[in-house]
Amino acid sequence: MIRLSSGVTRHSKTSKLKYYFRKNYSSEVDLPRQVDVVVVGGGVIGCSTFYHLCKKGVNAILLEKNKVTSGTTWHSGAIVWSLRGNDVDTIMLQKTRTLLAGLEKETGVNPGWINNGGIFIARTPERLEEYKHFHSLGHMFKLESQLVSPKEAQKICPILDPKSFYGALWSPSDGFTDPSMYCAALIKGATNLGGQLFENTDVTRILTEPTPNNEKKVVGVETSRGTIKTNTVVNACGAWSRDLTHTVGLDIPLTPIKHAYVVTASVPGVKGIPCIRDHDGGLYFRPQGDAVVFGGYEPNPEIISDLPKDFAFSLFELDKSVFDVHWRHACELCPAFEKAGIKSDIYGPESFTPDHKPIMGEDPKCVGFYHASGFNSLGIQLSGGAGEQLAEWITSGRPELPLYAYDIRRFTPIQRQDRAWVVETSHECYAKTYSIGYAHDQPLAGRNHRTDQFHEALVASGAVMEEALGWERPAYFIKDRTAPVRNYDWYGYYGHVISEDKRYEQEIEGDLTFDFSKHHDLIKEEALAARNNVALFNLTCYTKMYLAGPDAQEAADWLFTANVDKEPGSIIYTCSLNSRGGVETDCTVVPLEEGVGTLVGPILKGKGYYIVAGSKSGYQTKSHFRKQLYKKNFKSLVTEMTNRIGILAIQGQKSGELLQSITEYPITDDKIPFGMSRLIKINGHTCRVLRISYIGELGYELHIPLSSCIPVYNTLMEAGRGFDLKHAGFRALHSLSCEKGYHTMNHDLRIDDNPVEAGLVKFCRKDGQYLGKQAVENVKQRGVQKKRVFFTMQDNVPLYGYETIWRDDSIVGFLRRGEYGFSLDCSIGIGYVQHPEGKMVDSEFLKSGSYQIEVRNKKYPATLFLNSPFDPKNQRLRGHYEHSFEEQTHFED
Ligand SMILES: Cc1cc2nc3c(=O)[nH]c(=O)nc-3n(C[C@H](O)[C@H](O)[C@H](O)COP(=O)(O)OP(=O)(O)OC[C@H]3O[C@@H](n4cnc5c(N)ncnc54)[C@H](O)[C@@H]3O)c2cc1C
Repeated sequence: MIRLSSGVTRHSKTSKLKYYFRKNYSSEVDLPRQVDVVVVGGGVIGCSTFYHLCKKGVNAILLEKNKVTSGTTWHSGAIVWSLRGNDVDTIMLQKTRTLLAGLEKETGVNPGWINNGGIFIARTPERLEEYKHFHSLGHMFKLESQLVSPKEAQKICPILDPKSFYGALWSPSDGFTDPSMYCAALIKGATNLGGQLFENTDVTRILTEPTPNNEKKVVGVETSRGTIKTNTVVNACGAWSRDLTHTVGLDIPLTPIKHAYVVTASVPGVKGIPCIRDHDGGLYFRPQGDAVVFGGYEPNPEIISDLPKDFAFSLFELDKSVFDVHWRHACELCPAFEKAGIKSDIYGPESFTPDHKPIMGEDPKCVGFYHASGFNSLGIQLSGGAGEQLAEWITSGRPELPLYAYDIRRFTPIQRQDRAWVVETSHECYAKTYSIGYAHDQPLAGRNHRTDQFHEALVASGAVMEEALGWERPAYFIKDRTAPVRNYDWYGYYGHVISEDKRYEQEIEGDLTFDFSKHHDLIKEEALAARNNVALFNLTCYTKMYLAGPDAQEAADWLFTANVDKEPGSIIYTCSLNSRGGVETDCTVVPLEEGVGTLVGPILKGKGYYIVAGSKSGYQTKSHFRKQLYKKNFKSLVTEMTNRIGILAIQGQKSGELLQSITEYPITDDKIPFGMSRLIKINGHTCRVLRISYIGELGYELHIPLSSCIPVYNTLMEAGRGFDLKHAGFRALHSLSCEKGYHTMNHDLRIDDNPVEAGLVKFCRKDGQYLGKQAVENVKQRGVQKKRVFFTMQDNVPLYGYETIWRDDSIVGFLRRGEYGFSLDCSIGIGYVQHPEGKMVDSEFLKSGSYQIEVRNKKYPATLFLNSPFDPKNQRLRGHYEHSFEEQTHFED
């Protein structure tokens, strides 16, 4: 080990690797002139991607500027857990463990996998509730786990002090690996299949050419040893990934942060103990011979502004004061540590992201440029899944898993470019690594990034905001007080003063529970106002786009499953699929009438469409459209209008009367029937009104040009007094839409769902061609292996999504969404039910079982409906309130 003056320690740690890489990694071998895929970065992610590409028969090479593992991977703690709070993460981890378990047989190289099991420590009853959720969801994936008392945990891991914690979760499938041995096995597997690894080969630039749609495409890489032609590059450069991204003129939202673990001196009785994760103590550990490796997540990590390029097999000097808090917590949990003391430390760079999820997938701004970085200290355990999914992404265009949460397209270009936003959000994610994962927790960092015209007025009216794709939007409204989101105070670290304004935090604390939210009654009032009278929702964060150009009709026919070649002004709900028939997005599309020359009524040459998609999924939707237009070479453009058009939605049975009171345009069924859009004037301002509802009521959305937003809002609010108009937020909206059985993208509608499974086949036209049609037709013929259904609960138990669905004695799925339905007056859930033996699922099968929902280790009886029982005949949507509320009884279609 060499100590450098700059506080950096350099290790001469290549001996173990040399043993494995005697051949085929040589820097003397000439680089190929052309390959299909260049993977850049020989850390665990690059190695796994390289391996999986070679398994698929792809002509791929791996280029590493120094030696394989020399970045972060060589010094990883390398623990691999099993249990998580959602399906995608759980499956990704499962894929890694399966890979680790099989690599030696396949390659002859032992990847160092030790399956010693793991224990999650709960110091509080609330934390144990979270573990119960992991335990229940684990059942879905046949993952064995056991909730144990402190004494039982101590039996499994004798060094634990049972007095220091409340309970625990034992997970026998956890373990750890040796990252160098693991990478060696991956490289062996890849090179056996013809892949080539080149070390000491620095990729200095990605070569691109412009595309007709003003973006770029990859044509090669320039390296320290020459140029290679390729159309596909994977950026697996870990903490250096931004540098490579900059070479194509782009940025990614990634922040290198120093992360440490220490190694204790010998501790009696630690040989063979399981891995431990003590979330409340902010620490994790695992055995290493007769010592223990333990690390933690402190609230004030050292953020790296500039990571030297030649930082290989190197470490930083650990500032022990940063680590003190972990040492204290570790000694509380295992008093034997205190006597042993710390022998050495490992303090290295790791990349963190604004939402604690990796950055993967093709860059929407550069064709053929794939990201695989930002692994937030989970890189080893996610590597098997990440490499496999990326290889699938590259070879078939999309991953097999619904990786929205990992997809680079969950960030807008504005977010990607804003360094201050990226750093503060990444800091908070690091600091909150081990906080409890509540469904409605909100960040304090990076807020007020994008606010709309109504923001100030709504906050003054009591709006408690939540974040969506950088936008602030009302979650719910409090009474007689306000709770604006204040500037980020970095939790008082780095010389910042802790903010005295705690109003927002105090409100959101009400949601930090597995029980019903403390704001349940407020949300109920808003939801029932929309059901029984009239409520106003600000939907400005929805993504608005125009599709126009000479090929607009052809493009729309290709993109949309529904027939959108309809009368101008019609509102058409549709899906847009991928070639496998998976749902990439759903949206409403309005063929445009002759415009009047405003933002909401543009004058177009030829046909055009106004498209409204969800908020969080908006950039994903736009990127999907743009990619397909590029691939098909359509002469048409998708132009985003989100920040130039506001949306106020008035929903409920009085909405028509209210709207009529502020416009001279006749708000009648004749002039503006359900599913139609018109340009109308409100107080002299031209707005596009859409008669549509996402909650299943009579409702009108006003799409308003930016400069008219405030005047229209004021007019509406003034008139609203006479109608007892109530503000409502997205929490009420989501409850109401779930109650009505409508879909939400990336929840109960994902790329692993097709329209037949999702109950959306009626929105897939029979005539003509559209993207994914063949796959849909095949599924229609063959039948489905899972089907979207609706549940109501008899017990007063809160549902938040990811609860396990039981049919008789078998697990048949999990809830994608869980809400309280205020009109049905019960907890409700939407999920997909599959056959326990993998057979086709039909209505008979669905109807014949007896259902239970497992919520945090307890099963509750549930009633299955094929569709939501709320107003099944859509009377209210059409404004027919003369019938009293009609609830469907069990199973009627
Ligand atoms: C202290 C610590 C403990 C951890 N513990 C765990 C754990 O218990 N479990 C877990 O799952 N994860 C853990 N992690 C995280 C895990 O180690 C990382 O997520 C993972 O190693 C990252 O791998 P990577 O391939 O993305 O990056 P890296 O390993 O950094 O690999 C990137 C590679 O790219 C190369 N490179 C960069 N630029 C170029 C270029 N221009 N041309 C060619 N090559 C280039 C670099 O030299 C480097 O080798 C831990 C991390 C730390 C710091």
